[in-house]
Amino acid sequence: MGQFRQLVRKSLEAALPEQAMLSRGRRLRSNSGADRPASCAISLTFDDGPHPEFTPQLLDNLATVDIKGTFFIVGEKAQQHPDILKRIAAEGHEIGNHTWTHSEPRKTSTGQFHDEVTRTNDLIFNLTGTPCRLTRPPKGELSPGKILALLKLRQTIVLWNCDTKDYLMKSWVDMETWCLDFTPTHGDIVLMHDNHSFAATTAALAGTLPNMSGVRFCRVSEWLRDSRHSSTNTLSACGGRS
Ligand SMILES: [Zn+2]
Repeated sequence: MGQFRQLVRKSLEAALPEQAMLSRGRRLRSNSGADRPASCAISLTFDDGPHPEFTPQLLDNLATVDIKGTFFIVGEKAQQHPDILKRIAAEGHEIGNHTWTHSEPRKTSTGQFHDEVTRTNDLIFNLTGTPCRLTRPPKGELSPGKILALLKLRQTIVLWNCDTKDYLMKSWVDMETWCLDFTPTHGDIVLMHDNHSFAATTAALAGTLPNMSGVRFCRVSEWLRDSRHSSTNTLSACGGRS
């Protein structure tokens, strides 16, 4: 993300009401609603799935290391693979909205964007029984009209502060190198994609690497102090060794 876009994003985040936009976590919410200290907690997020081959691999690895993540799914892919979407939810992960078609932001009108978010939320609810309150726009790009549309839909806009750039990687070794170089910082929201195998590599490594030791892995909504999210998320969902 360019410096100008980062500046715009930070300005927006400061200007919008709390809970409207999140690009990194601050305070973890406890079941009682009080702040809960944690030495280092981060959120792993996975975009652009579900993928019929790689998402199940990722879920297998996340289960092995007892880490819960947040999946920003593409509606039309979830419609093709409903059992995978149900599995994501059944295994305690969180599901967010990444629009219906992942259409190019600059070619997508506010009206189309609104319809895609609504259609995807409807599918998520129909398949999982849980309302979706988190939306991540494709490429993190938004216009004022789209922000307003999301606020009216009572969505929290979720961006990220840590991009693995896994879409540029050539093999799992590249991801292993990234993981080894990564210094987790409290509140990090890490961007990955589960439409290739590298995210599964990260999940497998996250529970074993020394630099990940003591890190708590939390779903995105655990950073939010909003009752809209409280019915679907509790701190017990936090995974990882701490
Ligand atoms: Zn995407």
